[in-house]
Amino acid sequence: MTLWQTARRFVLDVLFPPFPPCLYCGQEANEKSFAAGTAFVCQDCMSGFIRIEGPICSVCGRPWIQGEICRDCVRRTHQAFCQSRSAVTYNEKAKEWLARYKYRGDRVLAPVLAELLYEVWQREYASLSIDVIAYMPLHEDRLMERTFNQAEELARLLGERVRIPVCGLLVRTRATEKQSMKGRGDRLAALQHIFAPAAVARSFRRVLLVDDVYTTGSSMQAAAQVIRQQWSQAEVYGITWAR
Ligand SMILES: [Zn+2]
Ligand SMILES: [Zn+2]
Repeated sequence: MTLWQTARRFVLDVLFPPFPPCLYCGQEANEKSFAAGTAFVCQDCMSGFIRIEGPICSVCGRPWIQGEICRDCVRRTHQAFCQSRSAVTYNEKAKEWLARYKYRGDRVLAPVLAELLYEVWQREYASLSIDVIAYMPLHEDRLMERTFNQAEELARLLGERVRIPVCGLLVRTRATEKQSMKGRGDRLAALQHIFAPAAVARSFRRVLLVDDVYTTGSSMQAAAQVIRQQWSQAEVYGITWAR
């Protein structure tokens, strides 16, 4: 490189750095960093995520090798959603990211979470003719506290990316579940009245329901039931960031 080229390169790098700093830790990103649009996450910060890619339960999407359907899904009698898929394992790393995003309101992380959801979309849902993307609702009291609904934000980012309309099909009628409900059946019964359909006039066939975390599947199940009661022809598919 001539002196002129070196000087030119230096000036360009200063004016337009090739990689902005890692979104999470601030250290310099490079070509091996994870890219989410114009945001980058360095290899160190991505290293703790475990993507769910291997053999999974065909219903709930958990890593599962002993047959097609896991023991929890086999036990469910009225399966309301067709299937659910998740991007990453809900390990310490994922918990830390979600806490920073959801509870501390660090919304700059949203595009990274959405990019991981998009990986799942490409693998599982791109060919499925999804009509509408919905999201798990947040009670208005919680919305006042947190100022945003993380599931809605992720749904909107995914919707923009895949060019599918995003619609709030559900409202949440109670802020919290009854803590006294211990068993799985009790929990589901309590959840059934926690969601109500929103006033949406349009019809659709395949709904993709976005949530941040899939734990027991009770929320997904209850939400899917309400959607199917209101829009009887609808099929509900789930996508969550972690599980
Ligand atoms: Zn980093
Ligand atoms: Zn399962």
